[in-house]
Amino acid sequence: MKTLIGGCMCGEVRFEIKNEALVSLLCHCKDCQKLSGSAFTSGVVFPKDSIFYEKKNTSSYEYSGGSGAKMTRTFCKTCGTPIATVVAGLGDLCVVALVAFDDASQCPAPSVSVQMNNAKPWVTLADSVTKHQFGMS
Ligand SMILES: [Zn+2]
Ligand SMILES: [Zn+2]
Repeated sequence: MKTLIGGCMCGEVRFEIKNEALVSLLCHCKDCQKLSGSAFTSGVVFPKDSIFYEKKNTSSYEYSGGSGAKMTRTFCKTCGTPIATVVAGLGDLCVVALVAFDDASQCPAPSVSVQMNNAKPWVTLADSVTKHQFGMS
């Protein structure tokens, strides 16, 4: 199994993942827009205990997601690069920011897009991406 490695922009956070990705997805919700500084987030989903930090100058922010699930976002304390979000109650998944990987081409391409009801009108996605107005259910 390949090892995926990544980290933040300034280098104070470094991690590795030895699990296979479950799915790669996009989210257009307001929280993701605020926290990413962009129109949507691109995340790669792994089982919760998949991420091992070699350098961990991180800070975390906890909040309730739209579904009521407890979300914990982890980002670099110095440069703010988003690293991962742990979602409690959804099978205890860990969504790692695609931008945090050194070589994102080793991750699966996004196949699912959620919260399309809040997507910016100028966002167009490939036909290969399954689009959901709200969550995946
Ligand atoms: Zn950093
Ligand atoms: Zn979102």
